[in-house]
Amino acid sequence: MRDFTHDHSALALNTATLGHNLDGFGAGWSPEQVIDACAERGYGGITFWRRELAGRAADIGARTRAAGLQVVGLCRTPFLTGSLALPDDRAIMTDFYRSIDEAAALETGVLTIVTGGPEPGTKGVIESQKILADRVARAADYAAERNVKLALEPLNPATAGNRTCIMTAADALNVCDAVGAANVGIAIDVYHVWWDTTLAETLSQRAKGRILGYHLCDWLADTADVLLDRGMMGDGVADLKALRAAVESAGYTGLCEVEIFSANNWWQHAPEEVLDTIVERFRSYC
Ligand code: ZN
Repeated sequence: MRDFTHDHSALALNTATLGHNLDGFGAGWSPEQVIDACAERGYGGITFWRRELAGRAADIGARTRAAGLQVVGLCRTPFLTGSLALPDDRAIMTDFYRSIDEAAALETGVLTIVTGGPEPGTKGVIESQKILADRVARAADYAAERNVKLALEPLNPATAGNRTCIMTAADALNVCDAVGAANVGIAIDVYHVWWDTTLAETLSQRAKGRILGYHLCDWLADTADVLLDRGMMGDGVADLKALRAAVESAGYTGLCEVEIFSANNWWQHAPEEVLDTIVERFRSYC
């Protein structure tokens, strides 16, 4: 397992951590300000959200790389299933392809998929996982031709009413198997899988070479809101070192991306303070 105690070159920022993915939050920094602040602090990379690109994906990607940082990924595809998805297959796939184009313009290797929940008119998640696999399969070649990998991110079951139909690494790998494309893998986010006592076994047995991203935060003991009350690493109950060991047992050597949605705490702090705190917590807790 890598030792981060004196080295945070594997640390990446997901810009959601500065509140940029939701209207009305964040300090209003431009992508350029975020890039410079991360570079100054020795971060290894940044993951952006589509809303920040605003038609400037190629410029922002080039600027990030010129600052010595990796463009780790892009968040995210539209919901591909469920009640929050666009109204029909054609609209969903059109926006799915557009998100792949944006990832390609940014020249990032990874586009994250947040799947969406159970399809209206169905119960449970099995039927929705089949629809999901079909839609991902139809876009996989298009993404591969543009050097984009698609990362299926399982989400915490508490969000499964409308945001996800895959809740465990095993669910995500099952959908990968159904899709059967070399550029489709999974992303592991501490917030979503910290509770899963079968995770290490699943990853070591089934996920070799298929983990495309690792997302850091913490699960607060008294979580007030499952979407917007994520904890800073070290403030919660997740066993962060054990989780990273599980991810690395599957061969993951990529960056570790801090993704903290925290409307009432971290999004209220100055970005400089958040970025400094992340470096310190990464070295001591992750
Ligand atoms: Zn995540």
